Formats: sequence, C-alpha cells, structure tokens
Amino acid sequence: MPDALTANLEAVRRTTARSAERAGRDPAAITLVAVTKTVAVAPIRDAIGLGLKTFGENRVQEAMPKIEAIGTGDASWHLIGHLQTNKVKFIEGRFAMVQSIDRLDLVEALDRRLGSPLDVLIEVNVAEEPQKTGALPADLPAIADAAHAARHLRLRGLMTIAPAVSDAELVRPVFQRLRTLRDENSQRLGAPLPVLSMGMTEDYPIAVEEGATMLRLGRALFGPR
Ligand SMILES: *Cc1c(COP(=O)(O)O)cnc(C)c1O
Repeated sequence: MPDALTANLEAVRRTTARSAERAGRDPAAITLVAVTKTVAVAPIRDAIGLGLKTFGENRVQEAMPKIEAIGTGDASWHLIGHLQTNKVKFIEGRFAMVQSIDRLDLVEALDRRLGSPLDVLIEVNVAEEPQKTGALPADLPAIADAAHAARHLRLRGLMTIAPAVSDAELVRPVFQRLRTLRDENSQRLGAPLPVLSMGMTEDYPIAVEEGATMLRLGRALFGPR
C-alpha cells in the first residue's frame, strides 16, 4: 500500500475524530467520500484496499471508465458535480447517489429515466455565489417537494460547497445555514433528511463540528491535483 495515502487517511480519521469529539458527536456517524476526480484507477484500488468504500466523481464522462474498471461491488459511486440532463441516461447501474440535484427539470428528467430508486441530495448554493452551481435557498422548497414526491428518487438530504476563503472559520455560518435548511425542509416534508454532505479538504473539521454526516475529501487523501 502506498505510504502517503495510508498516512493521509490516518490523519483525516484523527482530525475527524477530534472534531466530532469537540461537538459531542460519534465519528462513526460520518461517511468519508473519497473524491477521485483526476485520480487514476490504481490509487482508487489502493484506497479500497485501505477500507474506503464511497467515491465521489464530479463528471459522468470521467467517472464511467473508472466505474467500468472497478465495478460497483467494492465501491459505491456518488456523482458530486453538475449533472446535465442529457447525461441522466448514464446514472442508473453506475451511481448509488447523485449529490448534485440543483433544479426542477433535473428531478423530472431523472424520475422519468430511472427504473429503480436512486438516493439523491439537493445541492444548495448557500452563499449565493453567482458563478456557482447549486439551487438558491429560495428555490430549495420547490425542488425538495418534487424530489420527495418523485417515484424513483429518495431524497436523503442536502449538500453544499462552501466558498473558498482564507480562513476556514469564515465558512461556519454556511454549514450552520445548510443544517437549518435541512431541519426546515425535513419538518415541512415530514420526512427525515439525515444526510448533510458538507466539508472538503480546507474546511472539513469545521463541517464536522456543524453536523456534517458526509465529508467529500480529495486532496486531503490523494494530494494536490
Ligand atoms: C473536488 C471536489 C471536492 C473535493 O475537494 P478537495 O478540496 O480536494 O477536498 C468535494 N466536492 C466537490 C463537489 C468537488 O468537486
């Protein structure tokens, strides 16, 4: 096994456990999604050898040959990047979760196309950054209602990408806001939305303190891209 990945994974687990402890949370309730965009098949196999099971890819086209090579038995694949409507046909049988539902027409296109239920998260552009993907908070209720009602979608929670800032502490309110939005929508729908996918390499210790149940880590595991 490559030493760097082993050491990185240990460091991530230690940091996650410390943050969870500070917040009185159980680190076992936090799923690590290893983000493998630009990462080749061999290091992904190494990661599987080290016990990682969930992998995040942000482009369908890049993910397909990797999923083909590695399969869906030892690895579970999450789409974490923007999904174009014309790529919806590639989701079933490959991805266990789409974390990046960001508009009504995507809910409709997926629901029409799928033959069996798919776990989804709605991506929210909490900070309302103009060039960012994700639903605006004002549009979230309508998308959540549609996803909750869709026959072939199982709405599991929310995802966000926090703004890039020099001091990770500045993103804490973004994570708090995502959690509040989750609570509000869960209550309105009368359905549990257990998943909060938030926290990347630069900010995951704070995301854990604020209730993240899924971390999406690329560089913290595989090094710089
Ligand atoms: C690339 C990416 C990540 C991982 O980013 P790192 O900073 O390498 O941890 C997480 N989420 C999304 C949506 C990404 O595109």
